[in-house]
Amino acid sequence: MNHERSRDLYDRALSVLPGGVNSSVRATQPYPPFVARGDGAHVVDADGNRYLDYVMGYGPLLYGHDAPEPVQSAVQKFASEGPMYGMPTEVEVEHAEFVARHVPSVEMIRFVNSGTEATVSAVRLARGYTGRDKIVVMQGGYHGAQESTLVAGGPENPRPSTPGIPPEFAKHTLPIPFNDPAAAEAVFEEHGDDIAAVLVEPILANKGIVMPVDGYHQRLRELCDDHGSLLVFDEVITGFRVGGLGCAQSTFGVTPDVTTFGKIIGGGFPVGAIGGKAEIIERFTPAGDVFQSGTFSGHPVTMAAGHEYLKFAAENDVYEHVNRLGRRLREGVEDLLEDRAPEYTVVGTDSMFKTVFTRDAPGSFEDHCEGGCRQRDSCPRFDACPKTGADVAAAETGRWERIFWQEMKAQGVLLTANQFESQFVSYAHTDEDIEETLEAYKTAL
Ligand code: PMP
Repeated sequence: MNHERSRDLYDRALSVLPGGVNSSVRATQPYPPFVARGDGAHVVDADGNRYLDYVMGYGPLLYGHDAPEPVQSAVQKFASEGPMYGMPTEVEVEHAEFVARHVPSVEMIRFVNSGTEATVSAVRLARGYTGRDKIVVMQGGYHGAQESTLVAGGPENPRPSTPGIPPEFAKHTLPIPFNDPAAAEAVFEEHGDDIAAVLVEPILANKGIVMPVDGYHQRLRELCDDHGSLLVFDEVITGFRVGGLGCAQSTFGVTPDVTTFGKIIGGGFPVGAIGGKAEIIERFTPAGDVFQSGTFSGHPVTMAAGHEYLKFAAENDVYEHVNRLGRRLREGVEDLLEDRAPEYTVVGTDSMFKTVFTRDAPGSFEDHCEGGCRQRDSCPRFDACPKTGADVAAAETGRWERIFWQEMKAQGVLLTANQFESQFVSYAHTDEDIEETLEAYKTAL
């Protein structure tokens, strides 16, 4: 493969964009493929190389790079007739009604422009609603590039995970291990009266894809109810991907007070949203007193794309297709690993998948060890123990990024370059694509 143009573009980009990119994960080495265009399940780079794409925009592209016709027409129409006004439009009402009809926790919704903006606003809303300052987050969870959640350590010693955040801010955030009900009970025991919200991805999707153990979200629900705290599900990735139109919350049978959305809900355009019980969401200004605002919020092109995206999923076999191919891929890679790299683990559900380069990665949902002892030496079933999202620290990240990812790319398959970020199957992928991908895995492994 020739990469001359991508290399030249990266050289130019490095002079005017920090790290040559506008989002850190994109700076793959030695230089990223600069994309010229998408085509179904493929992207074509500036040098004309064609790749089978599982990055899928990091999650939004449920249909791959060719949106269904109604999405494309709606985008053209709204882009050419505006594209935006700073005044309300019918399409945002329709989109809100659709989400409220399908997602158990949502009676009302506020649309914003990114997943980060959604979680920032959700945290402010929870604090405003409860009159409390502290939030509980999960170690290994991710809620975007925001001050309240870029916090490392534990509940006793929270600290900013990046320069630029005052340590005083981090004191209000209590990180606990995911899948550990005792840790959640302890943090409520100690800080219960001060906790505004527990903010949790129903499935950790940025740390190797960690499924919740049975009853975990139910326990969080009870703890929040007992202490008057809000349960906030961050469904930025899982929303309209896991559990179909009901989102991940419908599969776990737990209704959060507030849900944050992003990615798919905007049909490939910048989006975020905060949904939940009317009584809570109505605390946002101008209905209530918790300030929230945005020039581009509810952008007509985004609302139209998102609405047509979801309507198409409601009327076609979209989830059946992507989930079936997701399962085929996970099972296929699992077979290959058994043979070639039994020290690695396949993780994922529905149309999400990843191969994590450690045996300490979270096992599949069904596999979880009942004892939960986490004693590697004494437990014969340690490999299948419940995992927290912090246990993948031992993964061979260098080997994934510098060797495996490069090898897959050389074979024309683009995966997410970060070892812990999910990959996605789209409606544009076919059974032949899965075969081709498994062949590439076989060679690369
Ligand atoms: N929450 C979760 C669970 C995410 O995975 C992400 C980003 N992938 C965000 C929030 C932030 O979304 P955005 O990048 O759109 O700001």
